[in-house]
Amino acid sequence: MANAHQVIIVGGGVGGSALAASLAAAGVDVLLLEQTHVYEDRVRGEWIAPWGVAEVRRMGLLDTLRGAGGGHYVTRHVTYDESRTPQEAEAATLPLGMFAADIPGPLTLGNPHHCQTLFDEAGRRGAKTLRGALVTKITPGADPSVTYLLGDVEHTVHCRLIVGADGRASAVREACGIPLHQDRPHHWFAGMLVDQAPDWPEDLQAIGTEDDFGFLAFPQGDGKVRLYGSYALEQKRRFAGPEGPRQFLDAFNVACSPINETLIAGTPAGPVLSFFNNDTWTDQPFAQGVVLIGDAAGWNDPIVGLGQSITYRDARMVLEVLTGGADWSPAAFADYGAERAERLRRLRFCANITSVLDAEFGPEARARRRRHFERTAADPSLGMHGFAVMAGPETLPPEVFTPEHRARVLETA
Ligand SMILES: Cc1cc2nc3c(=O)[nH]c(=O)nc-3n(C[C@H](O)[C@H](O)[C@H](O)COP(=O)(O)OP(=O)(O)OC[C@H]3O[C@@H](n4cnc5c(N)ncnc54)[C@H](O)[C@@H]3O)c2cc1C
Repeated sequence: MANAHQVIIVGGGVGGSALAASLAAAGVDVLLLEQTHVYEDRVRGEWIAPWGVAEVRRMGLLDTLRGAGGGHYVTRHVTYDESRTPQEAEAATLPLGMFAADIPGPLTLGNPHHCQTLFDEAGRRGAKTLRGALVTKITPGADPSVTYLLGDVEHTVHCRLIVGADGRASAVREACGIPLHQDRPHHWFAGMLVDQAPDWPEDLQAIGTEDDFGFLAFPQGDGKVRLYGSYALEQKRRFAGPEGPRQFLDAFNVACSPINETLIAGTPAGPVLSFFNNDTWTDQPFAQGVVLIGDAAGWNDPIVGLGQSITYRDARMVLEVLTGGADWSPAAFADYGAERAERLRRLRFCANITSVLDAEFGPEARARRRRHFERTAADPSLGMHGFAVMAGPETLPPEVFTPEHRARVLETA
């Protein structure tokens, strides 16, 4: 059977659209299939770590995103906490421009705008792009094919390689029988966009913990701020129902961060959606005729906000295989699979320490945080998990990602 395209990408989120744009620019014949007609706020990544921004730049897409009026850089970080005064917290402000060369800090931009910009760019660079194309069947193997519905009409298209970029519930992963491992959820993680909060400083991201809530705030520009919060598994319905958005905003009313008043005065500008805080991964994100990228290949706990950075690295590594030689067999993706497995292992480690420190509640956890601030000021190596989140897990030696280091940070030795 003749191939209609060299590559078919299932899913036009960040990963699929970024890869389609870069493959098309390299002259690869690619079809990008996205089931939705409009990208909506699904409470997804709106913050890209400095190492992720470096990946965006390496793929030649940073100017595209910036040129489309998307996003701005956040250059300062403050960790507020009930165990210290706001002044103490602000005295420990962390500048964010030191983690990646020539990148002023994390880049924040709205996910729907981000996806649309990349999807349009893929078309502009020569990819065939289809919206409202629901993929219903994936056939991996020596003669891979994809069946999709466009309107009422079913199409089956053959290709040399299928890229599964279809997110958490990946049908491509399923069709290949690739198992998804996951660790136990430890918290709920809710998110919402707030608008009309112009007094929140646009260069400042902040996190903090007080009482039974761990909060995070990432400005998006134009008075918009993406908010997230961790809370206990037993509080499943804490932000459910029509009052949910208001109750979520009110949870930011904490004494340790007076600046949060500017958020509470804002207007909810989207749904509050809650997800589990946990990690998932695959052992081998490829099969004959198929490779997975982004969430489809397993995702990191959203508490450290690295899903897009991971996805961009995946897309870049797969791009290099597909444009680097004639071999697109499973063996050609072995290095990608090995690098990803170790990357995700290290990031699980970072997310675990972060969640124990920032999202465990009560007097013991509070005292541990207080000691952690003091101990880290004296010995910055205790904050290496945070460095890995910003600069990339590969920038640190393997000893950091060991039970011994974890025990030293969390004082469980
Ligand atoms: C609460 C929360 C907060 C997060 N915060 C951050 C953050 O701050 N920073 C960060 O970097 N990451 C964050 N993430 C993670 C980030 O959102 C994801 O890792 C990222 O969106 C993954 O991109 P993707 O392209 O792999 O998948 P997705 O964005 O899920 O895209 C998959 C696409 O595939 C399409 N699709 C699915 N099935 C089909 C089908 N059968 N046919 C056709 N199309 C299909 C979908 O419509 C979708 O457009 C967060 C995640 C959550 C849950």
